[in-house]
Amino acid sequence: MHFMETQNCIFCKIVSGEIPSDKVYEDAEILCFRDLEPQAPTHVLIVPKIHIASLDEVEESKEHKELLGHLMAKVSVIAAQLGLSNGYRLVNNCGEDGMQSVKHLHFHLLGGRAMGWPPG
Ligand code: AMP
Repeated sequence: MHFMETQNCIFCKIVSGEIPSDKVYEDAEILCFRDLEPQAPTHVLIVPKIHIASLDEVEESKEHKELLGHLMAKVSVIAAQLGLSNGYRLVNNCGEDGMQSVKHLHFHLLGGRAMGWPPG
């Protein structure tokens, strides 16, 4: 990981508090905050606090496996906190073809309406 990468990263700045966010869940490893441009009645982003550029950068290291396992295990906790009792969608956009715009690993948690399929 390069220093400049984290320094210019908008989600690293949200994690550090330099940029404000509407937080819905936080613990030592992850942060969840509301998306600025919600695509559903409920739309939050779940991010690891450490800078990982994308899902493609996730390694089979103990650290990454524990972190991602922790994040996934918290999805149902966050969904319940947000009242998404009728289901939800978890989305990761990865890289250019995945249309990832912010280069800090994040998962979109969307709910509050029925989702369409296939995605565009
Ligand atoms: P992606 O296209 O998957 O990289 O998603 C990036 C998401 O970050 C988009 O849904 C944006 O609306 C959202 N976003 C960008 N800047 C902020 C911010 N400062 N606070 C909250 N959400 C943001």
